[in-house]
Amino acid sequence: MTIKGLPSLERAIAAFSRFPGVGRKSAQRMAFYLLNQGEEAYLALQGALSEMQERIRPCVLCHNLAEEALCAICGDSSRDTTLLCLVEEPSDVWAIERASLYRGRYHVLGGRLNPLAGIAPQHLHFASLEARLQKDPPLEIILATNPTVEGDATAHYAARLVQPYVQRITRLAQGVPTGGELEYLDESTLYQAMMGRRVY
Ligand SMILES: [Zn+2]
Repeated sequence: MTIKGLPSLERAIAAFSRFPGVGRKSAQRMAFYLLNQGEEAYLALQGALSEMQERIRPCVLCHNLAEEALCAICGDSSRDTTLLCLVEEPSDVWAIERASLYRGRYHVLGGRLNPLAGIAPQHLHFASLEARLQKDPPLEIILATNPTVEGDATAHYAARLVQPYVQRITRLAQGVPTGGELEYLDESTLYQAMMGRRVY
C-alpha cells in the first residue's frame, strides 16, 4: 500500500523500512512520530546522522569503529596486548565488550570468507592482520568468527595465517547456551557441546 499524494512521507517510510528489523508498520509509526514531534525532532535526527556520517571511520589498527585514528580499545594502554581476538564485524566487538570479561585487543576482519558470494581472503583485513603480527605479535589469538560454515572457514584460514606468529590459537567454545534446555537443542549444537566438554 502506498500513500497517495504524499510522496515525501512515502519516501521517508520506505527509507525507515530498509532498517534491519523494521517492517512497514514500524516505519510508518516512526514517520508519524516525527511528523507529530515537529521541527526540533527533525533537527536532532538530522544532526545526529550527519555527525555520525562525518565522524565515524575505521580504526587504522583494528578496523573497529572509531572517531579518532585509533578506536577506544586500541587507544587504551591498559588493555592486554598479549591477547588478540579476531571477529567478523565491529558489532561483534560490541557484543564481546558488553560481557566485560575480555581485556585484550581485537582485529575486525570486515566479513567472512564466502567463495560463492565472491568474498576471498584479499577482500578481508588479513593483510593488515599479518602486518600487525609481524610488528607486535600477541601470545594468543582468539578466533571469534561466527559458528557458521563461512565463519568456520574464515577461522580455519586465519588459523593457518597466524600460526607462525603466535604461541596459542584458540576458538570460542560452542554448545549449550545459558538457560537452554538439552531437549530443544539441534543435533549440531549438542554435538559441539559434547565435543567441547571440559573437566568439571
Ligand atoms: Zn582499534
